[in-house]
Amino acid sequence: MLPFANITIIGLGLIGSSIAHAAKENMSAARITGFDSDPAVRNRALELGFCDDVTDNPGAAVIDADLVVLCVPVGAMAEIADEIAFDLPEDAIISDVGSSKDGVLETLRNSLPNTRIIPAHPVAGTENSGPDAGFATLFQDRWCIITPPDDALEGDVEKLKAFWEKLGANIEIMDAKHHDLVLAVTSHLPHLIAYTIVGTASDLEDVTRSEVIKYSAGGFRDFTRIAASDPTMWRDVFLSNKEAVLEMLQRFSEDLSALQRAIRWDKGDELFELFTKTRAIRRRIIEEGQDDAAPDFGRSHD
Ligand code: NAP
Repeated sequence: MLPFANITIIGLGLIGSSIAHAAKENMSAARITGFDSDPAVRNRALELGFCDDVTDNPGAAVIDADLVVLCVPVGAMAEIADEIAFDLPEDAIISDVGSSKDGVLETLRNSLPNTRIIPAHPVAGTENSGPDAGFATLFQDRWCIITPPDDALEGDVEKLKAFWEKLGANIEIMDAKHHDLVLAVTSHLPHLIAYTIVGTASDLEDVTRSEVIKYSAGGFRDFTRIAASDPTMWRDVFLSNKEAVLEMLQRFSEDLSALQRAIRWDKGDELFELFTKTRAIRRRIIEEGQDDAAPDFGRSHD
């Protein structure tokens, strides 16, 4: 049984195109319509064939939809919601994939009053963007966090849940504010740290850039993968999840100062104890299938 027959995806980059690929594979009877504000992306989507239809205006994309998924950067949600407001069918469910949730819900509620809004966030991605970056298995065995507002209809939540399950995801239902706090520590803060470290290394005067690149296997390389993530997306994430990110950053700064003290005063036991604890967390992530224990993090080098 198909949860939705007419699915519209707005924003045909990494996440939008991956949803379309996965929906085509796992819900082949559903009709997938796409729209992107960039004409080059629309043309590429047609060439790659992951949508049945690509429209050249947002209203035409949603007019027959029973599910609309907004896959644009968080800062573009208001603009696109305003653009589809007139044509959105009354009984359509409107969802999104934004990396922060409380602000997006407020934005969608302002632009689309009296509609059936159920935000969601697939916790899956890569550092690549654009329509060529998408693939059907991106959500396989990854978590999708659905953050229904208090007034969401239970039947609608169940349908959205069934949709994401068909794309391969495991589902967690969470309050939007709690989502933002959890993701601030598991995703947003690590990105901020990676952006900082890579920025610091590139600004160093007494270590040359070619040395930084040459000896990157010493840990730096793994930060550069994260720091290569899309600048627009991440600018919007930090601005929209400001409160939770600043709170986590404060905690992080305090812990960093404690480490600084331990190094200064030769407190090796303190360092050893922390590093043992963090190693166990890595083991649990692998045990729960959320990463690969293969050498070089299972990365392919072709
Ligand atoms: P992406 O590859 O850059 O794709 C976003 C697409 O949306 C781009 O083609 C962009 O066009 C288009 N767009 C921007 N503004 C638009 C508008 N007003 N109307 C229609 N299309 C518009 O980004 P992504 O990685 O798929 O991220 C999309 C969303 O998923 C973001 O909200 C992000 O927070 C969330 N998310 C990302 C990841 C990840 O790892 N990447 C994971 C989970 C969730 P232009 O290029 O012309 O701007």
